[in-house]
Amino acid sequence: MNQLSIVMYHYVRPIKDSAYPGIKGLEFDLFKEQIAFFRDNFHVITMEEVIDAVREKRQLPEHAMLLTFDDGYMDHYQYVFPVLKEYGMQGSFFVPSGILQYEKVLDVNKIHFILACVDIEELLPEIYGLLARYRKEGWQIEPDEVMFDKLAVANRWDPKEVIFVKRLLQSYLDEELRGKIVGELFEKAVGVSEAEFSRQLYMNLTQIQEMKAAGMFFGLHGERHYWLNHLPADKMREDIVNGMRYFESVMDKDYLVMNYPYGGYNEEVVQCARDLGCVLGISVEARHADLDVDDPMLLPRLDTNDFPPKSNHWQEII
Ligand SMILES: [Zn+2]
Repeated sequence: MNQLSIVMYHYVRPIKDSAYPGIKGLEFDLFKEQIAFFRDNFHVITMEEVIDAVREKRQLPEHAMLLTFDDGYMDHYQYVFPVLKEYGMQGSFFVPSGILQYEKVLDVNKIHFILACVDIEELLPEIYGLLARYRKEGWQIEPDEVMFDKLAVANRWDPKEVIFVKRLLQSYLDEELRGKIVGELFEKAVGVSEAEFSRQLYMNLTQIQEMKAAGMFFGLHGERHYWLNHLPADKMREDIVNGMRYFESVMDKDYLVMNYPYGGYNEEVVQCARDLGCVLGISVEARHADLDVDDPMLLPRLDTNDFPPKSNHWQEII
């Protein structure tokens, strides 16, 4: 048994007093409480220590933990970074390079803010209305009920209607079509230009370099935040390589870690990441990792909500 608990974070900000109080994320005050809990109950180690332990088949310290932050939000620079510095803990950050290269907002983030601004009871008919319009324009789209039956399955965090919207707009519909629909819904709900919103939402490269210089870790999360397992092999490889090139200045080629967007991987994706030099891969399977048995390219992660002050799931999940 060589246990490692990897914790996953997305938004961490003062949510209640923000412009988007409906956004799903961790309230900054609770983050500070959680980090104090980790200091008292876990041993937060660095990604480099984990990689060395895997390479040399060494035992990790007891209650070893890694903190991981996905998607490059400004929250991570503004709120998380100062707290981690204060506690002398390392965070590992996974940024899809496209958000910095193109001043775009990822569709997945637009969907978060649409869901934060519009009640699901209003949103569903709006989406059905848009789908009807695009069908008239000639797009081949299955009937609403058929798609709902296929996609609407509640998970640990969201009711089935929300999951339906996320899956429909993140991956099920044709990429061009879902981009159009998400764009229209976003513009109506949020009403800020995409370039402006992108500058507010994400960190920039200067901030990332500052964090790296202060001992933070940066790993791969692709370029455009695709479900890599849904892409043809050449496009999948290109997306990983592009992210890698862009972040060359903040990554050490002996310590590369792949974080599969949405936890989407298959054998080809894992092999490609390995061929490109990745030593570790992290997924979104919710349990503690055991380096004695787990494939280092597929390490599971727990969610911030699995730990106090949000819950005690971490004690039940083996
Ligand atoms: Zn992500």
